[in-house]
Amino acid sequence: MLIRLTLSSGHEILGLPTENTYGGGWDLGPTWNYVVLDEKPFLVDTGKFGSADALLEMMTFAGISGRDIDFVMVSHGHEDHDGSLSEIAERTGAKVKCHDIYDRLIRFYPERAPDDARKSFPASCWRCFMPPSFSTEHCTEYQKARSRLKIETIGDDGSNLSENAVVYHVPGHSPDSMAVFVGSEAVLVGDTVLPDITPWPSQEAFFDQVQGILSPRYATAASVYGLRAYIRSLAKLKEVGKRQGDLIVLPAHRLFYNGRWNEIDLLTRIDELIAHHVQRCEAILKIVMKGAKTAKEIAMEYFDAPLLKGFGILMAENEVISHCELLSACGDVVSEGDEKFAATGTMNFESAIHSLEP
Ligand SMILES: [Zn+2]
Ligand SMILES: [Zn+2]
Repeated sequence: MLIRLTLSSGHEILGLPTENTYGGGWDLGPTWNYVVLDEKPFLVDTGKFGSADALLEMMTFAGISGRDIDFVMVSHGHEDHDGSLSEIAERTGAKVKCHDIYDRLIRFYPERAPDDARKSFPASCWRCFMPPSFSTEHCTEYQKARSRLKIETIGDDGSNLSENAVVYHVPGHSPDSMAVFVGSEAVLVGDTVLPDITPWPSQEAFFDQVQGILSPRYATAASVYGLRAYIRSLAKLKEVGKRQGDLIVLPAHRLFYNGRWNEIDLLTRIDELIAHHVQRCEAILKIVMKGAKTAKEIAMEYFDAPLLKGFGILMAENEVISHCELLSACGDVVSEGDEKFAATGTMNFESAIHSLEP
């Protein structure tokens, strides 16, 4: 299937879903890639590695040739979004525009890389929470192809992407996440705002190893990584969204899922996502208040068993660590030896979350 949206300004957006099945309780559903038919058409996201044929076929079906695409950009550097970027760029001749952080993290830095199984990975993958064996098997070819890309970098906020589109840096889910506003009618939010499910935040801990690679303007971990960065980005989207009125929100997953369309009201959904993280911080803090625990122990107590199967435990642990980082930053939790988190007796997190500004 594909969808064609006609905005009241007459501009059109094509929604092109590509397969992205991991299965299990953390399934995101297909990746929704979009072609914005601006004066010069552009493509946002390219699906997983190996999705180029499917994407180009859908474009042909919609009457667009890959050669018509002026540039491709990715909402963020996760493989379900940039997997086919290099192949699409090669086959269409389109330029590639991404955030400066993306441009830096896709490269290899052998002299800076961790001295373990991840030594041969690009910087973006040094702290991947999947086991190195998984990445070596599934990501090597993709990582190599991606590292050769020539990229026109995009600035942080309010940069004009095309005649009619403006882009904002919304780090947190990933440090290079972008949201694209098409006129004042639609917004492509990537994985930053999803219906049905809550995007997982990255960890502030990921920052240490890549700080020397990023621009010095990102001076602290929380400026681009972790739950605090993510909530600030939601606040930014809310602020920009409020100035725009009614927006059609186009997410990168679950636009259509389980036989139904998910309509998103941007401001309402952002409030729901923030409330979700307040609740999750509270639940985690209550678990830790009963006694110091590791992220894994907290995850096993907090999440239902089906979510912990296979790689699920790794996703669950990541989620817990992101929340514990926020709880530590506001003084509610301290890290103890043996990688345990302990409660301090305070409950500052809720006001701390609500005071995070764009
Ligand atoms: Zn993602
Ligand atoms: Zn995704």
